[in-house]
Amino acid sequence: MSEKNIRSLTCIVCPIGCALSVKEGEKSADGFPALTITGNRCPRGAVYAKEEIRSPKRVVTATCAIVEEANSITAGSGAAHRGMYAPRRVPVKTVEPCPKEKINALLADIYKTRVKLPVKAGDTVIADWQGSGINVVAVRALD
Ligand code: SF4
Repeated sequence: MSEKNIRSLTCIVCPIGCALSVKEGEKSADGFPALTITGNRCPRGAVYAKEEIRSPKRVVTATCAIVEEANSITAGSGAAHRGMYAPRRVPVKTVEPCPKEKINALLADIYKTRVKLPVKAGDTVIADWQGSGINVVAVRALD
């Protein structure tokens, strides 16, 4: 097998971070090349490597704008009222990992979303994004 068919990955499933080697073989019945994975200390590493090669996904983190009430803090007065380092956006993350090729579209929708305060950690900001089953939640409370 040529070197081109061997990929090195680091398993990110647990803190051990096993160095994985993935050899791609001939296409199998499912249309994907057969994969031979070595270097994993447990079966989860093989599952991770297969997913990373065939359908890589990532948890997405970002921030959302907040809905400003008519009599609420404005950009000029807000910093003084809340303190110079008070957040002006709600940090959010996906509960489920998102396919890498869809991350830019998801981020575009996250950045268009405006969250009404107060919000608690774990509150859903976007439910079942585009029917994908991906939910976006607030990471911290903000009022
Ligand atoms: S292969 Fe298993 S032990 Fe190694 S990093 Fe992945 S989950 Fe952890």
